[in-house]
Amino acid sequence: MGSEAASSQAPFDIHKIAIIGAGPCGLAAAKYLVAQNAFEKIDVFEQQSEVGGVWKYSAKPSENHRVPQVSPECPPDPPLEPGDGNDDKGPVFPSPMYELLHTNIPRGLMPFTDFPFSDNLLIFPSRDDVQDYLVQYSQDIRHLISFSTEVKNVRLRQDPEEKDQWDVEVLSLRTGELTTATYDAVVVASGHYSIIYIPDIKGISEFNSTYPEVISHSKYYRTPEPFRNKKVIVVGNAASGLDIASQLSQVSQQPLLLSVRTPTPEANLEWTGAEEVPEIEEFLVADRAVRFKDGRVEKNIDAIVFATGYFYSLPFLSSLQPPLVTDGRRVRGLYKHLFHIDHPTLVFPGLPIKVVPFPVSQSQAAIFSRVWANLLPLPSVEEMKRWEDEEAEKKGSKYHVWPVGADSEYINSVHDWITKSGTPGKEPPRWSEEQCWQRTIHMKAKLKFELGGRKAKTLEELGFDYEPEQKDDSGPLRQGAGGLSDDDDKPLPLDFTHHYSEITKRRNASKIKAIYKFFQIPGILNIAGGLPNAQFFPYDTLEAQAAKPERWTPSSGSSNPSAPNHITIPHDDSTQKDLLQKIDLATALQYGMAQGYPPLLSWIRQFTREHLQPGVPYRGGPEVVLTCGSTDGFAKALNLFVTPWRETDPIEDRPGMLCESYIYPNIPNQATPLGVQMVPVKTDEAGMAVSGPGGLEDVLANWDTTKGKRPHLMYTVTLGHNPTGILLSVERKKAIYAICSKYDVIIIEDEPYWYLQFPDAALEEAKSRGLPPPPPPPQPTTNTTDNRPSSGFPFLDSLVPSFTPLDTDGRVVRLDTFSKTVAPGCRLGWITAQPSLIERLERITEATTQQPSGFVQALISKLLISPPAPPPPTPSTSSTFSLFSKPTPTTPNPHPSGWQPTGFVTWLSGLRAAYQTRMIKMCSILDAGSTLITTPPTRSPSWAVVKKTKLYSFRWPRAGMFIWLRMHFPSHPLFPVFKSALSTALMVWLTGKEYKVLVTTGAIFAADDEIKQKEGWEYLRLCFAAEEEQNVGLAAERFVEGVKGFWEVRDHGVIKKLLEEVKGSSVQEEEEEGMVNLAGFMGC
Ligand SMILES: Cc1cc2nc3c(=O)[nH]c(=O)nc-3n(C[C@H](O)[C@H](O)[C@H](O)COP(=O)(O)OP(=O)(O)OC[C@H]3O[C@@H](n4cnc5c(N)ncnc54)[C@H](O)[C@@H]3O)c2cc1C
Repeated sequence: MGSEAASSQAPFDIHKIAIIGAGPCGLAAAKYLVAQNAFEKIDVFEQQSEVGGVWKYSAKPSENHRVPQVSPECPPDPPLEPGDGNDDKGPVFPSPMYELLHTNIPRGLMPFTDFPFSDNLLIFPSRDDVQDYLVQYSQDIRHLISFSTEVKNVRLRQDPEEKDQWDVEVLSLRTGELTTATYDAVVVASGHYSIIYIPDIKGISEFNSTYPEVISHSKYYRTPEPFRNKKVIVVGNAASGLDIASQLSQVSQQPLLLSVRTPTPEANLEWTGAEEVPEIEEFLVADRAVRFKDGRVEKNIDAIVFATGYFYSLPFLSSLQPPLVTDGRRVRGLYKHLFHIDHPTLVFPGLPIKVVPFPVSQSQAAIFSRVWANLLPLPSVEEMKRWEDEEAEKKGSKYHVWPVGADSEYINSVHDWITKSGTPGKEPPRWSEEQCWQRTIHMKAKLKFELGGRKAKTLEELGFDYEPEQKDDSGPLRQGAGGLSDDDDKPLPLDFTHHYSEITKRRNASKIKAIYKFFQIPGILNIAGGLPNAQFFPYDTLEAQAAKPERWTPSSGSSNPSAPNHITIPHDDSTQKDLLQKIDLATALQYGMAQGYPPLLSWIRQFTREHLQPGVPYRGGPEVVLTCGSTDGFAKALNLFVTPWRETDPIEDRPGMLCESYIYPNIPNQATPLGVQMVPVKTDEAGMAVSGPGGLEDVLANWDTTKGKRPHLMYTVTLGHNPTGILLSVERKKAIYAICSKYDVIIIEDEPYWYLQFPDAALEEAKSRGLPPPPPPPQPTTNTTDNRPSSGFPFLDSLVPSFTPLDTDGRVVRLDTFSKTVAPGCRLGWITAQPSLIERLERITEATTQQPSGFVQALISKLLISPPAPPPPTPSTSSTFSLFSKPTPTTPNPHPSGWQPTGFVTWLSGLRAAYQTRMIKMCSILDAGSTLITTPPTRSPSWAVVKKTKLYSFRWPRAGMFIWLRMHFPSHPLFPVFKSALSTALMVWLTGKEYKVLVTTGAIFAADDEIKQKEGWEYLRLCFAAEEEQNVGLAAERFVEGVKGFWEVRDHGVIKKLLEEVKGSSVQEEEEEGMVNLAGFMGC
């Protein structure tokens, strides 16, 4: 709306307006139209004898039960029979309200903004409070309403020479009189909770004929009593389904079954007290039974309540062509869910779903009152049609469902638009920051209200305190929030507050950090913050020579000499007004926001959402927060999800963390002091095993609670696992994800090596070993499968994706780092996760690291983001998006240029190629030297027996930086004496003067002692990344020679001496000039 394009119908010539329905939306329409003072006659027709719409309760439900009910053309419920609810004022139409209903929106948010609820009401008022409120609200317009008057027909009078008009035929339900009057415009506010939907499931008709009392719909539910001691299934877990299930489970046979299509958040399920089951697949008449999709059969069912929703239906407009309603899932031919495009004198307030309807209907009424008074224009018909087509394509069957936050944005943007227009009329609503915040927490608050016995009168009583800075959660860097985005058909991420640690639950936003956003107001004199003055920073500039992205050739990994870029970070770049491009020391070295330095945060956020993890399957997509590298990221994840446990605490509270059998030792080092039990899952060559003994399902399904709480966390490295080099396929990831979803496990995926996936590994391995070439990798390993959008870069699309793109629940916390892509000493990384988890991580960051070093953030920002070229660009309102709209990596730029996403991806693909070359070199040498050939002494000069001893075996790594060797120690002649101690002896042996090569023993990576004792000692980890390229081959050769030499040792004394050496001094102390390092164990 608000386009300056020519209106389709202007000028309107409207004098008489009919409003159909005196529910909330009809009442709001009447108020705004009256206040416009531009129309002669406004008639409201209401079939009920009172205002209120769905809020006008009827103690008796309708008896018009159709099962199944799959037609939007089903006739509306007739009024109740006399005696069944007909009051003395007129017939009563059955409403969908039930006896014990409290609103699901808090009273500060739900009402019309010019008419608040009384402060004496509960925070979630009861249905009769709302009805009383609506009666009061209607006082000044009641004289316009014809009660007990049903609109039977609305017909268009279309004369090409004349304006559109509408013949409205109404029936007085008290006198039976049918009359028709002509109007210039019609407001259709007849609601959409009338025509029920009950799916046509196999066997349902026969079942219903045999047991007509069993199947019903939430529209007919009134009180729990008729369900006492009955075996009940509630179908559907939207608001009504959950509310009704929670009421029924208190009286029904236990457990009440809740049949769902998508899992219910655990906290909500707990509240209902129901057992969740899949969708019903078939009704089985013989046993009064149903079969669910998982094959389970439930017999002797007494009641099934379908809380499966309603169709849109407009029976009185059936003559309008093309039809407004076809399949009942939407109303067709509308612009912005409101104006009929071909006949804009017809409007439909109140159609959007998942909004707060009262104030949204006020905004809508403010618009059409002004449009019909010729004060605001409509766009051209073509433009409106284009909008509808695009919207339909984007949203499909969820056409009228608005995404989270869209109502806040709609209400406030309509207010601002209309206020700016200066047009007369009643002011549209505007939500305060506190109300916008309430909108974000209302569902959690409602749950607490219900669990607390429906007593609370304020949000504070429920533990929700508004603090102004909480608005920052959706502050300026949260691009993409609000508006009708294109992903609202995706599920919302689940609520994981039940997994928060006790400390995390108690964290509040930093009050001091909340002031930081005001620092950026141009011209503001800041005497608030305890900030050192930037003039006293001793650095005038920060300068560096930095590589260009094409330094490493992506095809071969060879070095591509080119002059470096000179980077200069000035002290104060006052010419740059756009904060997301301003990179200077005065801002970077100052105290700052916990999320990260704005230009860098914005760049990483956009890179992550658009290129690295495009199409994350939950609504709104992920957020990011910067960290001081992945160790810090993991520590924060632990802080978020782990309540520390001590030996003296109950064992059933002990937290557990699933992991691969081998793990980077820093992880247990961080987790176990918090009392976390590491729970290794059997891991094979392709990664964590899903099924079978020791596999993920087995571990979780058969969890022994005497050992601790069933693990609610998983730590995993799936793309170049350290130390094993495993690359977990998408198929296995899906299977693991499904199990984590089933057992409600949070996945912490740590992916420092994700871009180091080696496409040539399998083929080169086969060649090296004289094996037939392997089949090409299956298609699902590319990033563009499963209908996910392309990253925009073939290199990224070719990589096996992480768990994040599979994360429908929002249960994945991904750790990224610049340690391997830029340098470990940066101590810089980021976490990607659903917004509410990132919000908690920000709180943790505020209280711990605050944010990564400003020096580093400034340098990396400058490396990645194109600095402003003189003359300074016009300040951009679209912030960094403009940076990415047209990457121009090949356009000659006279000024030093940041890498931008294109350059960063080029850099990564160059690194990948360089590391692959090293990997191939080292693996080839290891393959060639894996067998010791010995010729025992013989007397015969003409023949000899050749003995071949396999020294080690390994799989060429498919990703990462490591080769994971299984040493065949049992083939060593002294194995019977020294057993596993040979592993330590070999390590020391290799560091000796003859070989000078340092490797890491696999034992230190074993996830628990059992693995370590059983087999961990057999492994060595070799790193092909740490050494200079020319040393990689040398190191591998020395290793091979060293191992061979070790296998030839027959003297017990040599091994004993080696073992004594390790007792006396650490291996590192042995390091000396000329030693090549295959261990790479300095911190990773
Ligand atoms: C069970 C349930 C719980 C809900 N809980 C909440 C909540 O907590 N908070 C909230 O904000 N919203 C809630 N809603 C949403 C609710 O729909 C809105 O609050 C609001 O009632 C919508 O107003 P409306 O005017 O569009 O439609 P309705 O309330 O449906 O009113 C439509 C009116 O049109 C009349 N009408 C229909 N056809 C004709 C005709 N042919 N001739 C004459 N009159 C006609 C009807 O009698 C009715 O009075 C709930 C809805 C349901 C079903």
